[in-house]
Amino acid sequence: MTRLAAVIGSPVAHSLSPAIHRAAFAAAGVDWTYAALEVAPGAAADALAAMRTLGIGGLSVTMPHKEAVADAVDRLDPAARTLHSVNTVSWDGDQLVGSSTDGAGFVASLADAGVSVDGAKVAVIGAGGAARSVIDALARAGASDITVLNRTQDRAEAAAALTPVASPGIISDISRADIVVNATSVGMGGDRSLPCDPELLNDGQTVADLVYHPLETPWLAAAARRGARTVDGLGMLVHQAALQQRIWLGDDAVIDTAAMRAAAERSLS
Ligand code: NAP
Repeated sequence: MTRLAAVIGSPVAHSLSPAIHRAAFAAAGVDWTYAALEVAPGAAADALAAMRTLGIGGLSVTMPHKEAVADAVDRLDPAARTLHSVNTVSWDGDQLVGSSTDGAGFVASLADAGVSVDGAKVAVIGAGGAARSVIDALARAGASDITVLNRTQDRAEAAAALTPVASPGIISDISRADIVVNATSVGMGGDRSLPCDPELLNDGQTVADLVYHPLETPWLAAAARRGARTVDGLGMLVHQAALQQRIWLGDDAVIDTAAMRAAAERSLS
């Protein structure tokens, strides 16, 4: 009676989710397995119909299906409703529930590094899907002030409109923040460019990057040289998956985030 969970996306072949979730299921000692399922753009509703027909235990959802899945589930958790974006599908009786654990995973990765968001001033660079989930979760976790900086100004304004504590920012806001977050794709792979001038960073700050390939981006390395505490993007990936495990397996489940991170690092290397 092995239960199946899976990630749906396109492309999905290089997803770290199977390694992370299989490690979690093994550590929890439950009879679940996890697959990566390529689902063509436009076919998210069909994938949810298949979930119902096949009795799939849970789904992770990645690009390009997060918005379409939000339209196809029976109900949404508060973050998924605000963002109109779903990264997790679970069962509640015979209903399919859509959740968004990305932003809460980011906040959990900060907590794991000993960084509290409550009352913090945060500067978020970027205004895409990842930035929006982070802004929403920072506000829910009690951040006092969130400034949003983005290459395209109208997207910064739209992301800041998610919560009353956020506003579009100016470059000097970065130096005044307690926590600075890169939520752009700048620094991915071999990209040596930086989301902001490291001279704006200082040793009183926590500097977090959502990019996790490489684990230490050029920007995080520069932030460390400025004396800032740094938090890499793999923590968010692991903790959003841990929150998915919690949703699928329930509150009593043992969630081994160290085993999950080790599996992700093995896959990355
Ligand atoms: P997205 O929706 O495509 O947004 C991309 C963002 O990056 C936008 O704000 C875009 O600015 C900005 N950007 C892209 N290239 C830029 C450049 N050359 N200079 C300045 N800004 C640039 O992507 P996303 O889903 O939000 O993902 C953003 C990053 O977060 C990706 O690297 C992704 O891998 C990472 N991520 C990590 C996790 C995790 O668990 N650690 C989870 C989700 C995403 P414009 O609006 O001006 O285009």
